[in-house]
Amino acid sequence: MTLYGGIEAGGTKFVCAVAGGPGDVRDEIRFPTTTPQETIGQAVDFFAAHHARTPLAAMGIASFGPVDPNPSSPTWGYITTTPKPHWHNTDLVGPLAAALGVPVGFDTDVNGAALGEHRWGAGRGVDNLVYLTVGTGLGGGAVVNGKLLNGMMHPEMGHMRLPHDWEQDPYPGHCPYHGDCFEGLVCGPAIIERWQQDSRTLPPDHPAWKLEARYLALGLVNIITILSPQRIIMGGGIMDQEQLLPMVRADVQTILNGYLQTPEILTEIDAYIVPPKLGSMAGVLGAIALAQDAAGTDEGINS
Ligand code: ZN
Repeated sequence: MTLYGGIEAGGTKFVCAVAGGPGDVRDEIRFPTTTPQETIGQAVDFFAAHHARTPLAAMGIASFGPVDPNPSSPTWGYITTTPKPHWHNTDLVGPLAAALGVPVGFDTDVNGAALGEHRWGAGRGVDNLVYLTVGTGLGGGAVVNGKLLNGMMHPEMGHMRLPHDWEQDPYPGHCPYHGDCFEGLVCGPAIIERWQQDSRTLPPDHPAWKLEARYLALGLVNIITILSPQRIIMGGGIMDQEQLLPMVRADVQTILNGYLQTPEILTEIDAYIVPPKLGSMAGVLGAIALAQDAAGTDEGINS
């Protein structure tokens, strides 16, 4: 079995794994994200030790962002404009590529998770899907015709604008750039600020969830009408609220108002808007999927 290295590079922790696929994780290590030098150094040490024993075919990195995912750009593989201290304009790919001498696949954390769910999880069997994560922020990744969607840069679905009824919801939003963009209205910190209460302590019948579901559905309707995904996967800490997903599905149907006459929307919406299947391994397995693509192999796709 060919082995790959994968890094889920998060803003609070790095998860590094050596794996052939989801059923074949050989080793895994997690450590806090401190300075680039220390954190990337720890990752290099972990993979170099493995690579010396059993060569890795390729590396994959799924990173917090914004990042530069354009392979023809001089700053490809960089974390670019993040407000996270020390990490502005940081080359993530370079040190790994130099130390290991193998191909490196690189993308955002949400694009990586979208690819991992497509290959092994809740997105199997379709060629067009969107993965959304709703937590401290809101990120979205898309697989289009079987490939990750990147263009000028990566999609930034969290920053689309939604209709905001200021009378019903006078909260101005959490986004430092836009205030009441999609992320600004629905992310975890926005719920805390709007209701002066942590989302985990809000009861399931609290009006917070009706409003949250409405905003999430408005965002999904924009995504559905623009990209026409065959499946939408919704993860992240906020989606752990089990009452939320059924409310979002119902609101999507209500807002679309019968305009899209597809079985996915009309009768099979429970199988259309779904939770992820890879759980806490989604990020790092997404990175393994990026590594497989970088190596130019389909091996392990169904493992
Ligand atoms: Zn924004």
